[in-house]
Order: sequence, then C-alpha cells, then structure tokens
Amino acid sequence: MKVVVVGTGYVGLVSGVCFAEMGNTVTCVDIDKEKITLLKNGIIPIFEPGLTQMVQKNAKNKNLSFTTDLSSVIKNTEIIFIAVGTPMGEDGSADLQYVLKVASSIGQTMQNKLIVANKSTVPVGTADKVKEVIAKELKIRNVIIDFDVVSNPEFLKEGDAINDFMKPDRIVIGTNSEAVFTKMEQLYSPFFRTHDRFIRMDVRSAEMTKYAANAMLATKISFMNEIANICENVGADANKVRLGIGSDKRIGYSFIYPGVGYGGSCFPKDVKALKKTAENCGYEAKLIAAVEEVNNSQKLAIVNKVIAKFGEDLTGFTFGLWGLSYKPGTDDMREAPSIYTIKELVKRGAVVKVYDPKATKNAKAFYLKEIRNIVYCNTKYEVLQDSSALILLTEWKEFRSPDFEEIKIQLKFPIIFDGRNQYNAFNLKDNGFEYYQIGKE
Ligand code: NAD
Repeated sequence: MKVVVVGTGYVGLVSGVCFAEMGNTVTCVDIDKEKITLLKNGIIPIFEPGLTQMVQKNAKNKNLSFTTDLSSVIKNTEIIFIAVGTPMGEDGSADLQYVLKVASSIGQTMQNKLIVANKSTVPVGTADKVKEVIAKELKIRNVIIDFDVVSNPEFLKEGDAINDFMKPDRIVIGTNSEAVFTKMEQLYSPFFRTHDRFIRMDVRSAEMTKYAANAMLATKISFMNEIANICENVGADANKVRLGIGSDKRIGYSFIYPGVGYGGSCFPKDVKALKKTAENCGYEAKLIAAVEEVNNSQKLAIVNKVIAKFGEDLTGFTFGLWGLSYKPGTDDMREAPSIYTIKELVKRGAVVKVYDPKATKNAKAFYLKEIRNIVYCNTKYEVLQDSSALILLTEWKEFRSPDFEEIKIQLKFPIIFDGRNQYNAFNLKDNGFEYYQIGKE
C-alpha cells in the first residue's frame, strides 16, 4: 500500500517506519527542513530504542522516504496519516492549528480518493473539522474528490514505541464506512499473527477513547501518589501497599508506583484537554481535575523533602541529580518532573549538578535553557562531587544498582532522595545512608 505520514515526531516516525517494515511504501512528511535533512541522511533527531537501525534499513530498501513537500508525494496515496503535535493551548484545550494546517494542505494537494487517518490525539469533533477544512479547499480548487476521515488514535509509549506499534494491544478504528474499515484492516492485519485486535467504533468514540485511556492511567498514578502521601503520615509503607493492591487482578501492578508524578508529552496535556472538553459542554469533571491537582503538587514531593532536611533557603548547597527525562528510555523532556524540581531548588539558591543518559541535550537547548546554576555532567558519579545529597528522579537502568560505597565517598553527606523508590530494597539506612523515598517515613 502507498502510505503517507505527516509529522515525523515520536508517533509519525515510528508509525511510518513500522508500516514500511511490513512492506508498504511509506513517505514521511514534515515541515521541519532540518529534521527531514537529518532523516534523509539516516540521522534520527529523537532517541527511541531500535529506531535508527529500522529507519536506515527501510530507507535503504526504498520502502521509506522523507520530504517536506506533501504535493510531490500525495498522488496515488491510499491512506494519509496526520501525526502532528496537538500541544496544550493557552486555555488548556488541545491546540489544533497543526492538525488543521495539515488538513488544509491535504485539501490543496490531493489528486485521488483518499483515506485521511488521524493519529494525533484530538478532542471529540475534530474529524468533522478536518473534513470541513478539506472540503473547503476542494471547493476552492473547484474539484470533486472523494475522501473519508477516520480516527485511528495511537497508544504507543515512548521508550518502547517500536515494540508497541509492532505488537499492539488493540487498533481502534473510528469510522462508519465499511470500505474504510476494510482498507484500514488490510493495512494493520500484518501486525497480528494470532488473532485480530481491531476495535471498530464511530469516530467520536474513537477520539474519546484515547483521552479516556490516558486519563485512566494518569488517575492510577495520582491515586497511588495520594495513597503514598497518606502512608507517610500514618507510618505505612507505600511499597508494601502497592504489592498488596497490585496482586488483585482487578487492580494490577502497572501504573501504581509511587513517585514524583507523571510528565511527558501526553498525560499532562490530555488530562487538561479532557477537563476542558467537559467544561465546554457544561460538565465539571471533578475526578479529572483532582488527578491534575494531585500531580501538580506531587512534582514537588522531593523538593519538599529536601527543604524539610536542609531548610527553606538552600543558598550554598549543591545537589546531585540523576535523571532529567520524564521517564526512562526517552530523551523527551516535555513536562518532566525534573524541570519543576530543578527550578524550585535553584529558586531557593541551590546549585544542581545533573546527569541523564539521553536527555541532557534537550534540557540544555530548550527546557532548562534559561535556568542558571545547573552544571551538566558527563557521568553519573561526576554529579556527586561537592553535592550535599543525591536526588534520583528518572529510573534509568544505569541508576538502578549503583555503587553505593562510591556514592558515600563522593557525597558530602550520605543522603539520598529517591523520587522513584528504586533503592527501597537496598537497606540503605542500615548501610549508613539517610534515605528518603515516596510514601514511606
Ligand atoms: P512531536 O512534537 O514529536 O512531532 C510532531 C511533528 O509534526 C514535528 O516534527 C513537527 O515539525 C511536525 N509538524 C507540525 N506541523 C506540521 C505540518 N503542517 N506538516 C508536517 N509536519 C508538521 O509529536 P508526537 O509526540 O509525535 O505526537 C504527535 C501526536 O500523537 C500528538 O497529538 C500526541 O498527543 C499523540 N501521541 C503521542 C504519543 C507519544 O508518546 N509521543 C503517543 C500517542 C499519541
């Protein structure tokens, strides 16, 4: 099948290369000229495990190509995916300007019957808007070309995106057209070898499904963090409570780790956008609002412990910090709890020495660019020198079993603030450390 994917971010690039891997002819389009030049040269602008090799292989096999010019590749395309960003708008709703810009470009350039599949996370009703924009452009051109807009939300997670795409739990397809469903089924069938995993529904329900999924996961995180905060106050251990409730199949172990809150490019904006969607139709989404509120304060959970130990004024203190990305396995810094933690520590006068295996470049160039008093280090042990304590915020594998003796030698004081409860099993208190974690005194 000839497929075009517009937007070469985490979702677009992974989708494009995975469709190519199955033998389709895929062109990835982006307005970012620099990104496309890099991709044409086999350089991947984002970090995602396994992506570089897969892109290079499919580009070499001529299954995958890159361009900034949609008009040059849209002819004879059967399915075009919209996979551009839908960032948080000023009022909290999803900003649809990029999606609608792509819709307009499609309307201006399409030559033949086309399925427009929306992979971006968009509020209910967006498919209708995309349809209107394309129809308007066709009218201006004075041509009649048949097209359908289908909602095909994406559920991959950064850090394991290729695996998720290649072996999806489900493929949600929102369309009322039998022919469109069949075509989408043909495109995705190669991804299931044992049984089919299509969930077909109307467009609005498909659009809503993505928000409901992310809001549910965010709810689990905020719920557990709330339980952890209560645990700290009553002398219970959230790590044990996690095991106690996770063993119940109805609850499950995933997404109930106590921590410094959720971040990333999806949960924060999608929870906010869902709240806004409800608000726009006169419904107050109390639970969703509470999920966000709990998360906002949880991002500062570790800072509060640092203050309790070292005082409100942190002038003269240096802290070593491991982990900048919002979770392991990605260089994505969007809404990472590290941003909030570092800004607060620096605001209170501290110097923060940081190390992350992949996200340092992004942090330096964008997310922490304006912040002074950050020292970027090249190794995890370098951050410890002259630091009064170690703070762990992202549970990258290389942080999971460090040399604690080395940590003790390097730090001014043997103090660890663990924002992901990674060292709970190491009996650090018995080994001379002051150890602070989430949800346990
Ligand atoms: P991203 O910011 O990494 O990439 C978006 C890309 O779209 C950029 O390269 C940008 O240059 C390009 N773009 C913007 N306007 C364009 C235009 N008019 N024409 C061509 N390209 C254009 O975004 P992402 O993280 O891949 O997310 C894309 C969508 O998928 C969002 O709606 C997001 O909520 C959703 N989503 C993301 C994830 C995730 O883990 N990142 C998972 C599931 C769904």
